[in-house]
Amino acid sequence: MGKVTGFLEIDRADRRYAPASDRIRHYREFMLPLSEEGTRNQAARCMNCGIPYCHNGCPVNNQIPDWNDLVYRGDWREASRNLHSTNNFPEFTGRVCPAPCEASCTLNIQDTPVTIKTIECAIVDRAWEQGWIKPEPPTHKTGKRVAIIGSGPAGLSCAQQLARAGHEVHLYEKNAQPGGLLRYGIPDFKLEKRHIERRVEQMKAEGVVFHCKTHVGKDVTSTSLLESFDAVALAGGAELGRDLPAPGRDLYGVYFAMEFLPQQNRRVAGEPLGTNEPILASGKHVVVIGGGDTGSDCIGTSIRQGALKVTQLEIMPTPPKVEDKMMNWPNWPVKLRTSSSHEEGAERDFAVMTKRFEGENGAVTGIECVRLDDKMKPIEGSEFTIKADLVLLAMGFVSPIKEGLISDLGVALDGRGNVQADTKRYASSVAKVFACGDMRRGQSLVVWAIREGRQCAAAIDEALMGETILPR
Ligand SMILES: Cc1cc2nc3c(=O)[nH]c(=O)nc-3n(C[C@H](O)[C@H](O)[C@H](O)COP(=O)(O)OP(=O)(O)OC[C@H]3O[C@@H](n4cnc5c(N)ncnc54)[C@H](O)[C@@H]3O)c2cc1C
Ligand code: SF4
Repeated sequence: MGKVTGFLEIDRADRRYAPASDRIRHYREFMLPLSEEGTRNQAARCMNCGIPYCHNGCPVNNQIPDWNDLVYRGDWREASRNLHSTNNFPEFTGRVCPAPCEASCTLNIQDTPVTIKTIECAIVDRAWEQGWIKPEPPTHKTGKRVAIIGSGPAGLSCAQQLARAGHEVHLYEKNAQPGGLLRYGIPDFKLEKRHIERRVEQMKAEGVVFHCKTHVGKDVTSTSLLESFDAVALAGGAELGRDLPAPGRDLYGVYFAMEFLPQQNRRVAGEPLGTNEPILASGKHVVVIGGGDTGSDCIGTSIRQGALKVTQLEIMPTPPKVEDKMMNWPNWPVKLRTSSSHEEGAERDFAVMTKRFEGENGAVTGIECVRLDDKMKPIEGSEFTIKADLVLLAMGFVSPIKEGLISDLGVALDGRGNVQADTKRYASSVAKVFACGDMRRGQSLVVWAIREGRQCAAAIDEALMGETILPR
């Protein structure tokens, strides 16, 4: 374990953010890493619990106490090897994971969990700096061909695992660049895209063939893929946004978050916006409807674009500031979460329902809202109007898009409209077709997508070879 008495002697200290007044002037990451000594001190706090709940809290089951100990002892290279044995892309999770591991850390019982995510990020960043991360091409080829559709974290991790097992892997992506929501959803200020590019280069050197700007179901038929590949993995995400069908929804100025956010990521990358008209928050009263990561990202992006005011509306009541640890730990608690974007100057209002969008000359000018009681019923006489000339709907995602890929293949769907497949075989109802990530489990997290991609790869390898060398 780290230092035997570390948790008694050393206080929790985490990465800080650059001041809001500075960071809102650009789109770069603004997290200030701990020093090497600071990171080792934090790793020393790990108690190496008899039952490490953090293992289970982490969806990829990172072996957290092991690499905490290695970092404490200064063996960063072995810590990186260990970390990569369970997670293909720790630099993604080390930046954007909500860290359920920290919620389940035993030290979280007293609200001072080990800074697991920060240590994870420090290990992998150091490994890249030192040149320890290299392509790992297979030593032999199996002669089997696998097509993966979608290059988000699920498709990327599935592809990397299968290529390392010796299969010929082709990754199809409809967008100009790989990465899925890592590339076009999550803003650069949370995850700079150079991290994705580095991994894509690594994967190309391992044999993965990327086919970008290739929409399966439009540019290539799914039946042609079924004919020319031994297996097809569906990793196309859950792209159908939840709409708000209130009167006035069709007014100019009301958009889905995922119409707004990808444009800014494309601007930062110098990529053309395509045929869509530019959506900008500059000089506007912006209202973001819906909490969660997507809502926060809309806030941070609007503030950077120069919005006059940003308000976030949430239909649910204000969650408690502190959870009841005795009732909740080691599970993920529902509690008030304040993101870096909230701190940059957004107002939040809870238990509010949108009644209708108001407009003039076809453009939105405000939102009529009503407050809800604790049974989620509208409170009579509590109606109020908020000025709005840009409204961003960030209420989550319903399911994958059915037209094209899914309907052409005819795969069975589960009750929520996701592709039906279990988490052992990851097999869909159609022979040779597998599914993973948000397309299978519904809207989720990067770390879950990585887990599913890895496990789906092991299931495909086993289906093709009769046994698998890949870890689950
Ligand atoms: C704005 C936003 C912010 C988020 N922030 C966080 C965060 O901070 N932390 C976190 O853990 N999670 C976050 N998430 C959730 C996380 O990004 C997703 O859960 C994760 O990316 C899902 O991975 P995936 O690989 O299953 O799908 P995706 O990342 O959605 O990738 C699917 C890919 O498939 C492609 N595709 C789909 N259909 C086809 C087709 N027919 N042909 C070719 N290509 C196709 C798509 O273009 C896309 O590139 C966020 C989500 C959003 C929308
Ligand atoms: S991937 Fe997420 S849950 Fe797992 S150790 Fe890293 S931050 Fe924690």
